[in-house]
Amino acid sequence: MTDLTRLTAAALSEKLQAGDISSVEVTRAHLNRIAAVDGDLHAFLHVSSAALETAAAVDAKRAAGQTLSALAGVPIAIKDVLCTYDMPSTAGSKILEGWVPPYDATVVRKLREADLVPLGKTNMDEFAMGSSTEHSAYGPTRNPWDLERIPGGSGGGSAAAVAAYETPLALGSDTGGSIRQPAAVTGSVGVKPTYGGVSRYGAIALASSLDQVGPVSRTVLDAALLHDVIGGHDPRDSTSLRDTWPSFAHAARAGKESRSLAGVRVGVVKELNGDGFQAGVHSTFAEALELMAAAGAEIVEVSAPNFEYAVAAYYLILPAEASSNLAKFDSVRFGMRVNPLRGGTVEDVMAATREAGFGPEVKRRIILGTYALSAGYYDAYYGSAQKVRTLIQRDFDAAFQQADVLVSPAAPTTAFKLGEKLNDPLAMYLNDITTIPANLAGIPGMGLPMGIAPEDGLPTGMQIMAPARQDARLYTVGAALEALLEDKWGHTLISRAPDLALAEDFAATEGVV
Ligand code: GLN
Repeated sequence: MTDLTRLTAAALSEKLQAGDISSVEVTRAHLNRIAAVDGDLHAFLHVSSAALETAAAVDAKRAAGQTLSALAGVPIAIKDVLCTYDMPSTAGSKILEGWVPPYDATVVRKLREADLVPLGKTNMDEFAMGSSTEHSAYGPTRNPWDLERIPGGSGGGSAAAVAAYETPLALGSDTGGSIRQPAAVTGSVGVKPTYGGVSRYGAIALASSLDQVGPVSRTVLDAALLHDVIGGHDPRDSTSLRDTWPSFAHAARAGKESRSLAGVRVGVVKELNGDGFQAGVHSTFAEALELMAAAGAEIVEVSAPNFEYAVAAYYLILPAEASSNLAKFDSVRFGMRVNPLRGGTVEDVMAATREAGFGPEVKRRIILGTYALSAGYYDAYYGSAQKVRTLIQRDFDAAFQQADVLVSPAAPTTAFKLGEKLNDPLAMYLNDITTIPANLAGIPGMGLPMGIAPEDGLPTGMQIMAPARQDARLYTVGAALEALLEDKWGHTLISRAPDLALAEDFAATEGVV
């Protein structure tokens, strides 16, 4: 029998619709895979006890002849930053340990309405602050390509789960790169939609003007299918766009079938391909560009002079917003409460709870953010950062005059070793140098595999960016590039991932759940 965990969501969808397989079989195969490999990976914080039941209900609907959505019966993992009424939602923090929200995030509600099968909640850096998932209060996730390495962050759990075939699909959130950078270092695909294109209602906020929820998958088409489910207007999110969106799956299929980039102006952002990037990132990026040119793309170099200040501006704006968003974790309304040994005022309880409940990176950013917002320094820090943000948006406007899409490596290096950057916040922050500008401008971006770095055998990722509201362009160009790369290699990149040396355990556990 085919190993159901190896199939893409699109292939599962076809087989489910044809009645060749049931959702219960598919779900069971993935639960078995989780049981076999997640002890090593730690991609999941919580595995749903309702998954098989949900799958059986979808099978029953299909058997009764109901018309179902394209992804009905397909399993999905959900980043723990998203509220789920039937599973704990901790955002990777001790302060929310065991907290079960009274409602679903809009994106989760949409998954359920489309009959996807939630498998569980995935690990993440605490409150999505980080690039390695080492800041999770529940311990790190490991990269399925090499268990001694990080899976990226903050959404390392979702990316690792997808790359290790624990799930075909996952949801992530991207405030400064947390979908695209984990995709790059795990050989998977991740999309940060246009700001406002996907609802943020029920996504535990990091920085509200930057956060976007988006799809994580092993192929561009799968990401598109999921984006079609989660996107669209939500009256519960005041920044939600009212646009009517085209079918992203249609856009991806068009790119995949044509394998052509004729007439597409591809802008290489000079400032996002600079010094300090790993040699194999440079070389695989250059090879991918050659392939794009051979497929008819017009490659142009564009300059975005203010991107140099993007990381600095982001690390003022993000902590400022985060310090405000995190003020609600006050021991009164959510989660943990610690009673101090001395003192008994409300302030004492709040202080003791926040001291015990927040990890060091969260505290660092709260201090940074409140400082940047304080009366004497507001203009010098937060105010200046907002001005830089405007300049970055203008750089994008100018660049998109010259190019239909912009490209860069999705991360400056391949996956680094656990512990390598943990005690060096600045080194950690610089991982997002390529992804942060898109969040500051609200434009959509995709991370997808572009090669394997010769020096370490690890995957590298390409970033494709499009103007706001032109998410469909990412899917067309991304799917074309993906198909061209696969034709060249004769295989998919993800199929090169070592199987965690767990193939035997996996066979042994098949049928256990
Ligand atoms: N790594 C970035 C940060 O630490 C991005 C986080 C994110 O996108 N959630 O802020």
